[in-house]
Amino acid sequence: MRLSRYFLPVLKETPREAQIVSHRYMLQAGMIKQASAGIYSWLPLGFKVLKKIENIVHEEQAKAGHHAMLMPTIQSADLWKESGRYDAYGEEMLRIKDRGGREMLFTPTAEELVTDIFRAHVTSYKDLPLTLYQIQWKFRDEVRPRFGVMRGREFYMKDGYNFDLTKEDALHAYNRHLVTYLRTYERMGLKAIPMRADSGPIGGDDTHEFLVLAETGESEVFYDSAVTDLTFGDREIDFDDKAACAAIMEEFTTRYARTDETHDAALFNEVPEERRKTARGIEVGQIFYFGTKYSDALNAAVDIPGGEKVNVHMGSHGIGVSRLVGAIIEASHDDKGIIWPEGVTPFHVGILNMRSGDEAADAACEDLYAEFIAAGLDPLYDDRDERAGAKFGTMDMIGLPWRITVGPRGLKNGVVELTSRRTGESEELAPADAVAKVV
Ligand code: ATP
Ligand code: MG
Ligand code: MG
Ligand code: MG
Repeated sequence: MRLSRYFLPVLKETPREAQIVSHRYMLQAGMIKQASAGIYSWLPLGFKVLKKIENIVHEEQAKAGHHAMLMPTIQSADLWKESGRYDAYGEEMLRIKDRGGREMLFTPTAEELVTDIFRAHVTSYKDLPLTLYQIQWKFRDEVRPRFGVMRGREFYMKDGYNFDLTKEDALHAYNRHLVTYLRTYERMGLKAIPMRADSGPIGGDDTHEFLVLAETGESEVFYDSAVTDLTFGDREIDFDDKAACAAIMEEFTTRYARTDETHDAALFNEVPEERRKTARGIEVGQIFYFGTKYSDALNAAVDIPGGEKVNVHMGSHGIGVSRLVGAIIEASHDDKGIIWPEGVTPFHVGILNMRSGDEAADAACEDLYAEFIAAGLDPLYDDRDERAGAKFGTMDMIGLPWRITVGPRGLKNGVVELTSRRTGESEELAPADAVAKVV
């Protein structure tokens, strides 16, 4: 992309409404624009990051054999009355009437609708296990939408639902989701710690939240610092192997790590004192096992041998896709702007032309631009006729992992400058060597 032709409305002033750094930088970098309280438009740069995150989620779900689908945002109230949640959900649910006076709602989550799909089409135990998921907009009329996309009213969420014959199978699905989530967050450059949590309006007993430690997080968390040393990495895992998935669950969840809702001071005191930590965290996902709560309410049963019918065991599993954009920035920035982890960066490399209009500089930039595209990367070329200071400021703010600075003086010596956004380190290299380092 050439910046002169891109839509990147970078703000010069610091937006006053932003209380936390991710919100401020997302506005300043031209990633989002508020449409109304807690509701945002995603401008091209923000949309690119959102899609990168979404793709990682899809890739990791596919590996576990979970099926992507899409359900509507607007639903009839009927199913929710059947499950009893139409009344129970309260003010967070946005209720709408259509022209015929029928009660509708903007979905805050989709247990009912997916269970309705299941009961219409699945009748035999032979069709289990089954996990369906979607990445779709949700609406919750939060009392206090704030911190930009971190607590929006409209937000983008991955929500997955498993259907299993037995509790044991459903707990395997639970473990499988934990594994996929560990890898998903790591690919985004995040350390998200699974913590024992409370189930809230979804219901159920078994649940873990994934928390990214950050001062601006809304949850208070208590943990054994040994959990922060765990990484999943690129281990191979057979998702059909129950024992292997259970072992990972155990590895990542036996040490003490809880949110304030389930915190147990006596148990916490058993953690060696130097490893006992209290901090704040951002909830970026949650997994639930809730048994037959919805299959009982909505009558979702399968036939088993012998002619009997049994209600299926279920769980649901969410990732805050749009919240993650903010969480990643909270975890990775400096006072000049965002520092994107490689896995989610909107462009791989920025090319900064110090002297647009200079023949040698223009030609060298064009060459670099073409080479990155040929190598399958996505470069952003700042070809604008702007002061160098403004160009550096924009590049630092939007936080691409690499910047290549091209100027007539360097070119006389056959070099350009390659700078890492994360370390700030620069080196002078021949253009071909700079390309090789980035690719
Ligand atoms: P919170 O405790 O932050 O209100 P939640 O527990 O109500 O979140 P879940 O029902 O577990 O949310 O939804 C799954 C994920 O969706 C959450 O882990 C979070 O990352 C994201 N999410 C929930 N509410 C919002 C929101 N208002 N804005 C952005 N993301 C959200
Ligand atoms: Mg909530
Ligand atoms: Mg929560
Ligand atoms: Mg939650």
